[in-house]
Amino acid sequence: MLKNKPQATRRWLDLAPGDPVIVVTGKDKGKQGEVLRTIPDKHKIVVKGVNILKRHTKAGARRGGTTVAQGGVVDFEAPLDYSNVMLVCPACGKPTRTKHTVLESGARALVCRHCDEPYERVRKTEAQ
Ligand SMILES: [Zn+2]
Repeated sequence: MLKNKPQATRRWLDLAPGDPVIVVTGKDKGKQGEVLRTIPDKHKIVVKGVNILKRHTKAGARRGGTTVAQGGVVDFEAPLDYSNVMLVCPACGKPTRTKHTVLESGARALVCRHCDEPYERVRKTEAQ
């Protein structure tokens, strides 16, 4: 009998900062941007120019241990779910789901499902 399902292991996020992505769902659907940050633990990413929220801050308010000198409204990019975006293939320019492959060199790579071009990038660290 199945007592407990195996815990979902932390999924490797295919996207890394600097990758071109397109938003496929939500209020910013269709917007393209560049990945600024990834938050693998929360399965979220931050994309430049996407999911802009406004943070209202009062002058003198304390936020994160620092005192905000100037009050006002600050635009910032809120994290959105990883599944809301797709990688844009640089080779064929289409938003694509990727499959994984291992190159002859042993490096991991993503492959575009449309054109089978490996999407290569310099990945600094495996674990972020
Ligand atoms: Zn492609």
